[in-house]
Amino acid sequence: MKDSFGRTQDYLRISLTDRCNLQCSYCMPDIPCFLPNENLLSEEEIFEMAKIFVMDFGIRKIRLTGGEPLARKNAGEIIEALSRLPVELAITTNGVLLDRFFPLLKKAGLTSLNISLDSLMPDNFQVITKQDSFYQVFENINRALSLGFHVKVNTVVQRGMNEHELLDFVAWTRHSPIHVRFIEFMPFDGNRWQWGKVVSYREMLEKVTTFFPVEKLDDDRNSTAKSYRVPGHAGTFSVISSVTAAFCDTCNRLRMTADGKLRNCLFSQKETDLLTPFRNGADIRPLVRHSVSQKQAERGGLPGFDHEEAPEAYAHGGCMTAIGG
Ligand code: SAM
Ligand code: SF4
Repeated sequence: MKDSFGRTQDYLRISLTDRCNLQCSYCMPDIPCFLPNENLLSEEEIFEMAKIFVMDFGIRKIRLTGGEPLARKNAGEIIEALSRLPVELAITTNGVLLDRFFPLLKKAGLTSLNISLDSLMPDNFQVITKQDSFYQVFENINRALSLGFHVKVNTVVQRGMNEHELLDFVAWTRHSPIHVRFIEFMPFDGNRWQWGKVVSYREMLEKVTTFFPVEKLDDDRNSTAKSYRVPGHAGTFSVISSVTAAFCDTCNRLRMTADGKLRNCLFSQKETDLLTPFRNGADIRPLVRHSVSQKQAERGGLPGFDHEEAPEAYAHGGCMTAIGG
């Protein structure tokens, strides 16, 4: 399926829930914007809709996200059911509950895990996430490695919060075959975004290269990350520059929210309700096609982040937990 700019849309991210067991400062709004339970996709609805995307629209990869996908009731059953579809299955998780799911994830054919970790210091982890779960996550990352999973560690870098840990994260890649991805802090509803808290791709790279020699690695065509390696290190690091250098020209991503709304862009201000017509027995395929045809060239049609109206413009697209990052 192609959008009107000729970009193939073959990657669907499904938010299993908008609830979470952490409250990361850059993500969870002070007043949580939780969806009513009756509006959430049931297990069967997730499977049936995913099936349409895979069989009728050629979706090749599905990533489960949230909120915290592993905190969703019956997450295991959902993963098991989706693994029967001819699609690459992936997950982004905060890692707190991962140890309960390793056998199931292996059985479901997942080979790679994206695990979020914003600090290597237990106290700072607690400041950022409001929970005392550092060791659980850190140990689960090590368990995932020892079980042979390819592990990407997502780290949202915020000035005054964890930017002083950049070198520690890169040092971690020396003996660990992990792939640390530093993510620029993006604005969403209620997440206290300010330009002053954004550490740019350029600045991150400057900080790292003052201490480490780095070599640039090749990036996949649809990759959102610019990848590097310190020569001799077992792992790599990369930067996801969604704020200062958008990568919309090769975007192949669609998103389904936990209440069954299709978003053709992370920053879209519009969603297409698929769940209501689906529950009424209607054919949702024309709605999917229309939504894809409306995908904007860049950032959901919003102005660049350096535009003076940017914080206001980005504050009405929904909060991250509901969209599914
Ligand atoms: N709870 C899971 C987790 O944290 O990995 C999955 C959902 S979370 C919304 C998905 C990813 O979005 C995480 O890696 C998180 O760090 C990232 N994220 C959340 N809010 C963000 C923001 N404001 N800017 C950049 N990345 C953000
Ligand atoms: Fe939860 Fe993930 Fe958001 Fe943190 S980033 S509050 S773990 S959904």
